[in-house]
Amino acid sequence: MTTHSPDVPAPVLILVPGAAGAPADGGARFHVADETAPQLAVTDLVATRGDGVFETIGAFDGVPVNVIPHLERLARSAAMVDLPAPDLETVVGAVEAAIAAHEPVSELSVRVMYTRGIEGTGTPTCWIHARVSDDWAPYRAGMKVALLDRGLPTTSAQTSPWLLPGAKTLSYAVNMAAVREAKRRGAADVLFVASDGYVLEGPTSTLLVRRGDEFLTTPVSAGVLAGTSVRSLSDHLEAERGTGVREQLMTIEDVTGSDGAWLLSSTRLAAPITHLDEAELPVDRALTARFQQVLTGAI
Ligand code: PLP
Repeated sequence: MTTHSPDVPAPVLILVPGAAGAPADGGARFHVADETAPQLAVTDLVATRGDGVFETIGAFDGVPVNVIPHLERLARSAAMVDLPAPDLETVVGAVEAAIAAHEPVSELSVRVMYTRGIEGTGTPTCWIHARVSDDWAPYRAGMKVALLDRGLPTTSAQTSPWLLPGAKTLSYAVNMAAVREAKRRGAADVLFVASDGYVLEGPTSTLLVRRGDEFLTTPVSAGVLAGTSVRSLSDHLEAERGTGVREQLMTIEDVTGSDGAWLLSSTRLAAPITHLDEAELPVDRALTARFQQVLTGAI
């Protein structure tokens, strides 16, 4: 049993037995379930092996952002771990149902979980969990970031695809351990550095760097997740100025010597980096505020 503070609207759970095809029992493809009751089998391979993929979608004033890009990425992650393709129409319907069933709030975090399912069945388990977003305001105001070694080179996606660089898998214990290490070092978050010296991404975010009029991010081919937020900002910048965000391998000095850097993600939005380890970075508050608006879908 879980209980929730009476001050915070209750989360919503939607089970999606039809996520990879019509349910065997002929029942509905998805339905609301009791979020406070146990729902996951102890033999689900996500519980025993961390074996599954997921997405986190932000919804602002009830409107989700980038649903299709998120679910297309879910399908790509599923393919990378040889899971059956999710039925996107069903999952879109379940995401919409979760948002509709939730009390109206300004910021909702909608998780889409897709696991290898109960051992031996071959049928993925899927659920949608919508809850009030964490308070990201302190991050959006600016944060210290620690550089941590990821222990893999930028060629790992080509040389060692079984390490799943670039897939959004449910084995995030390493990512969370990195954030705890950053906190021990007095920082709020992490920028991973590849063993060949190039900067990569955060444990749950994409790096964006400004150099003069140019905006740069880590190439997806370097083994980072293809971010939906950086894609939205790139489309916005391209429409506005004719050039979007360019992919380029960058060193630590490229970031510390830049005109500003952010960590981006769908629920955190754009969080400016004030310090990278000891190095102080410039922060453009007006530009950051505009990025937040783009990422909430307001402009
Ligand atoms: N990189 C990693 C490893 C992530 O886990 C995430 C999101 O959680 C991102 C980047 C940012 O992706 P998006 O902008 O699609 O939220």
